[in-house]
Amino acid sequence: MRHPEPQPVAMPPVLSPLIELQGVAVRYGRVQALADIDLRIAPGERVALVGANGSGKSTLLRVLHGLVPPSAGQVRCDAAQRQAMLFQRPHMLRTSAQNNVALALWLRGTRWREARAQALAALQRVGLEAIAAQNARTLSGGQQQRVALARAWGLRPGVLLLDEPTASLDPHAKREVEGLMADLAGSAVQPDGSTQAVTMLFSSHNLGQVKRLASRVVYLEQGRIVAALPVHDFFNGPLPEAARLFVKGEIG
Ligand code: ADP
Ligand code: MG
Repeated sequence: MRHPEPQPVAMPPVLSPLIELQGVAVRYGRVQALADIDLRIAPGERVALVGANGSGKSTLLRVLHGLVPPSAGQVRCDAAQRQAMLFQRPHMLRTSAQNNVALALWLRGTRWREARAQALAALQRVGLEAIAAQNARTLSGGQQQRVALARAWGLRPGVLLLDEPTASLDPHAKREVEGLMADLAGSAVQPDGSTQAVTMLFSSHNLGQVKRLASRVVYLEQGRIVAALPVHDFFNGPLPEAARLFVKGEIG
């Protein structure tokens, strides 16, 4: 006679989200930067955060990266996934591009020699091996952002967070960095050697870029998520009035 299998008590769902926010709020003193944020991010998604200045995009990315503690709610991130974050203006140390990338790896425990070698490979990945020895502070804005991408990429993150990564770049550099983002989001080698799509969250005011890069769009207004839709639906479907006017304003 067969007995029913004992049921494990807390089985994770088969397709558990990589990141899950429930009822997240952030206050800076009197400013309510985020309120009632519920968001689930699945592995491999490319999520664009859009909304007016001050709508909470940067705060949301900072919460996800653990830089800002939520004042309410819960943030759950898959601990097995390494995260890296990129800012609008990259912070470069006054040393070579290669050392800038290598230092990030060294800080995570890679030995210096190995970190230098991996840094060079990461710079090759973004087409900057020729300037590896140049002082990073003397590079153009676009080059610095590519070094920053190499630095993030070198860490082999499963989740890449980017806060307006192309906002301060000229059109040519914008295209270059955007192309790299698409490239890097395509696939990543995991620590165990397997390949998996990188999950990417980025904020942007450039709706063309959102169309080209995102699989889903999250529209924020005054710290709240007003719409979270697949990219096609965001640009073609009916939207809440505020989001519709935002899209019209940014495109028009
Ligand atoms: P976005 O990136 O969409 O422009 P932010 O997340 O930067 O929006 O800001 C959301 C709100 O929080 C804004 O009202 C902003 O002024 C406020 N804010 C952001 N950072 C701080 C801070 N460090 N201290 C106080 N208020 C802040
Ligand atoms: Mg911002």
